[in-house]
Amino acid sequence: MADPFILEDGSHIAVVGGGPTGSFFSIFALRMAKMINKNLRVTIYEPKDFSKDGPLGCNRCGGIISELLVQALAVEGINLSDRIVQRGIDSYKLHTDHGTVSIDTPTHEKRIAAVYRGGGPKGTMGQEKESFDGFLLNLARQEGALHVPLKIDHIEYRNSKPVLLSREGDVQEADLVVGAIGVKSQTSKLFEHMRFGYRRPETVTAAIAEIGFDRDILSERFGASVHLFLLPLKEIKFAAMIPKGTYVTICILGKNMNVRSVNEFLDHPAVAAVLPASVPYKIGCRCLPQMNVRAPGVPFTDRVVMCGDAGSTRLFKDGLGAAYLMGKAAAKTAVFHGVSADHFRREYLPVYRSIVNDNRYGKILFQATDLFKKYKTLTRGMLKVISREQEDQYRSKRLSSVLWDMFTGNERYKNIFFRTLNFPLQHDLLCEITKEFIAGKA
Ligand SMILES: Cc1cc2nc3c(=O)[nH]c(=O)nc-3n(C[C@H](O)[C@H](O)[C@H](O)COP(=O)(O)OP(=O)(O)OC[C@H]3O[C@@H](n4cnc5c(N)ncnc54)[C@H](O)[C@@H]3O)c2cc1C
Repeated sequence: MADPFILEDGSHIAVVGGGPTGSFFSIFALRMAKMINKNLRVTIYEPKDFSKDGPLGCNRCGGIISELLVQALAVEGINLSDRIVQRGIDSYKLHTDHGTVSIDTPTHEKRIAAVYRGGGPKGTMGQEKESFDGFLLNLARQEGALHVPLKIDHIEYRNSKPVLLSREGDVQEADLVVGAIGVKSQTSKLFEHMRFGYRRPETVTAAIAEIGFDRDILSERFGASVHLFLLPLKEIKFAAMIPKGTYVTICILGKNMNVRSVNEFLDHPAVAAVLPASVPYKIGCRCLPQMNVRAPGVPFTDRVVMCGDAGSTRLFKDGLGAAYLMGKAAAKTAVFHGVSADHFRREYLPVYRSIVNDNRYGKILFQATDLFKKYKTLTRGMLKVISREQEDQYRSKRLSSVLWDMFTGNERYKNIFFRTLNFPLQHDLLCEITKEFIAGKA
């Protein structure tokens, strides 16, 4: 008897959520199906209009597309136009309470892109820019997906197949449901109620704000650099200022940010020193989005798979890269193998777990970073080593590249972790920290 869990010509895939994960899944599922002459129907349910400015059209994030993802997309033939890329980033400036250093891209090329997920900060709709999420959704439509601008409110099994219902009462049966809904607690219930063991990912509350500047002032002050802040503030793990067209996106990652977090951050002397003095700026938009910090243990069952932020994603960085990776892995499993829990366990789970396992190394690296930002001697020693590496073009950029890869999402945490164990790097750091310690005692 034929396996009922293998998708056939005419099978229907319902993708709940048309953010990057839902779009990546759809693009790759349709491309892969064409490769084997299979005709699949893919419907993306996404109520947001990504051309809208402000929170209505936005899937709140810093909008950094890592080098890794820019390259992967280019290989897939997905090129980001100038209307999407608001600024090419070629360096990071690391600010601490004890000084600032610049870390250039190791290859001196601008390959990190800063984008808007939606129509941009409030009041900027339609100004020479295109939403990244809107672009991907459009690409999925061009591959043949149908976009239905509806929110799905309920999913239940009828005759062993999932059926999707919206408040408007529409009913649609699917051979596979892809949960690409992000991390909001309300929408997670949709899949928790299906009782296959799915639980919403563990999250922390982050803070984002968009600050408007005159274009020239912004370019002069921020250039093509992401400004990264490692400050000895207990609640804040790290924060970034990401320059775009006429706005700088401020992203504060920590445990539990609140409405005061952005102003407290802006008032910090190391932050105020970066902002243009005596030039008024306005906060165009602000929000407190949830960030996935621990993946759910059960991300699939028969005919249902959870992807992207609703499943496993990279800790504190490159969530869009993870959306690409997981969307593609789920598409490959569904098209080439099948859609039963067994198929997903064999083909999808290893990729899912590789991210979960890698995040364990990420956690250790961020704990080490916490120590370095907490103690003056460690902060100064680290800055000295980076400065020396950056000033001498012939010097090996061991610590600079560790920090570059950690904050840009360019490399797996596991590989970064093992590079930190490099003896010459540890030796350099230890020497500078000891000098700082002795200077501090003198
Ligand atoms: C503060 C912060 C900063 C970040 N910065 C970066 C960064 O600079 N670079 C980076 O790579 N990553 C970053 N990330 C991570 C990144 O935002 C996510 O990893 C990425 O958005 C995940 O994409 P997704 O499609 O899985 O989920 P989402 O982008 O959340 O998309 C989910 C979609 O599902 C839709 N949806 C939800 N429920 C339903 C429903 N019931 N019916 C229909 N549709 C539904 C929503 O409308 C939404 O469009 C950041 C995250 C945070 C919190």
